[in-house]
Amino acid sequence: MRKKVALLYTGGTIGCDGFPLAPVPGEIFRERFNAIPWYSGGALRVGGNEIVCRIEWISRPADSSDLVPIDWLAMASWVLERYERYDGFVILHGTDTMSWSTSALSFLLQGLSRPVVFTGSQLPLFQERSDAAQNLLTSVILAATFDIPEVSLFFDHLLLRGNRSVKVDARSFTAFASPNYPELGRAGTEIVINRSLHLDPPASAVSLDDPLNRIARLKELSLLRQVMADYCVVALTLFPGIPAGMIDALLSLSPRLRGIVLKSFGSGNAPVSGGFIDALARAREQGVVVVDATQVLSGTVRMKNYETGYLLQQRAHAVCGHDLTAEAALAKLICLTGKALVEGRGTDYVEKGIETLICGEMTL
Ligand code: ASP
Repeated sequence: MRKKVALLYTGGTIGCDGFPLAPVPGEIFRERFNAIPWYSGGALRVGGNEIVCRIEWISRPADSSDLVPIDWLAMASWVLERYERYDGFVILHGTDTMSWSTSALSFLLQGLSRPVVFTGSQLPLFQERSDAAQNLLTSVILAATFDIPEVSLFFDHLLLRGNRSVKVDARSFTAFASPNYPELGRAGTEIVINRSLHLDPPASAVSLDDPLNRIARLKELSLLRQVMADYCVVALTLFPGIPAGMIDALLSLSPRLRGIVLKSFGSGNAPVSGGFIDALARAREQGVVVVDATQVLSGTVRMKNYETGYLLQQRAHAVCGHDLTAEAALAKLICLTGKALVEGRGTDYVEKGIETLICGEMTL
């Protein structure tokens, strides 16, 4: 069978060169990709399949530290505009902010029926001992021949749900983990996918297989783009002694502030003394949604466990982030806030949305 995969090069270590490392332009990356021994014939033969790749790039491939939410919209549009022509999609991305992008795309591409696999590497493609070619090859095979209808992240030997992934190691080739959800698959001598763990294909009414749904989604993305500059959302990591004044300062610094992901302690706790929770309550009164998402890597938020979490809910009306990663919480908050602005809805819409399971991002 002939399979087609579209690749989008956005930058990151995988395409870096020089000292200090910086991503090469798209044309150079394509030349390097075409020179990879397993792709040099212009196609890849795996099992009975011939996989043809088309490589494209964003206008300015970047270190992922430089990517912003508007880039997520562009990546989602890129997938939608090519949807019918390809069996799957691979997005090459820097590892630093990959988990924010995978999370955002999972929310922006609801109704996905084809694989969108993010990957990157810890060493540049053409450096000795690089992990890039292996990550790339397996991601292409996953996108072309495994029907995994969701946004995933493949790295080293692990296939993870994108909105459950977290970067946990800046040196090891196994850079990502999924602390609150089992891995979707593993690539060892064989690729083994656990079908019971990935999302079910979408119902036909919402499926992106339907061109009308794709047109509607593209329109939504362009409307989101128009409101992106009108609001902002922040993530705030709690630490012992955090001054309540930080919340007031955030509010006065940015009148566009619409949401805070509070990376709280333990099972979702925040200081009651020092007026911190009261400051959050004032923010909430001004229309800022507060999401309680723990800074602990594994486990879930239980706001009724301790008084310090209970008051966060009762006084500041913080919404429970359950076991969302902080990355997924931020991406979800940004996407929902944008949608609320586009549709003229209030904070209650965003708060309800945060607590609603959308695409496997949390355990209720
Ligand atoms: N700074 C790089 C980036 O995120 C790191 C990497 O790709 O591993 O773009």
